[in-house]
Amino acid sequence: MKVLIVEDEPGIRETIAGYLQKEGYVCEQAETYDAAAEKVELYEYDLLVLDITLPGGSGLDVLRKLKKNRPETGVLILSAKNSLDDKIIGLDLGADDYLTKPFHLPELNARLKALLRRRFFKGSTAIVFEEIEIDPASNVMQVHGQPVELTRKEYDLLIYFVTNQNRVLTKAAIAEHLWGDYMDLADNFDLVYSHVKNLRKKITEHGGSDYIKTVYGMGYKFGR
Ligand code: CA
Repeated sequence: MKVLIVEDEPGIRETIAGYLQKEGYVCEQAETYDAAAEKVELYEYDLLVLDITLPGGSGLDVLRKLKKNRPETGVLILSAKNSLDDKIIGLDLGADDYLTKPFHLPELNARLKALLRRRFFKGSTAIVFEEIEIDPASNVMQVHGQPVELTRKEYDLLIYFVTNQNRVLTKAAIAEHLWGDYMDLADNFDLVYSHVKNLRKKITEHGGSDYIKTVYGMGYKFGR
């Protein structure tokens, strides 16, 4: 899961990023309105953790921009105490939840997990696709009821495929999703190839069908 953390206070921003990285999220950071607006214009995120008061503008305008381009992105607003208006406007604009500063990191994590479950998995705890079952709480996949261990990247890749069924996902989009935009994408194409290969092998070796189709010259498509 790829998260953009928009927050101008470096202490808070880096603490959140460090914590979420340990929890297995790919994190990017933006510390000004302009940086955040540019990132939501250029890249896709599963989630935004969004501060409202930013140098150069309001987080609410970042939210407006985001919801116009990619309404499916989950948003958690970080708000200061006594800023009820921001919260209400934010929720009206399509934010999913808010957290008032100061907060405890495990609470942030729990809120993000709940938000992802609601947004991507329609409230259910397990994602089922044919004979494949994925439990987002434990990161374990089952094929025909048999648990199969995945690496973190394989798990993220599988979730990305399952939530984007029948769409051609380019190697660039996959690389960006798994590693963020600060890696040299060309270097990652081989890595994408081997993660796809390994994931496909783990599914088929356990009796699953091969749902990952190679679209020559473009990337991959996941579906029946
Ligand atoms: Ca701020």
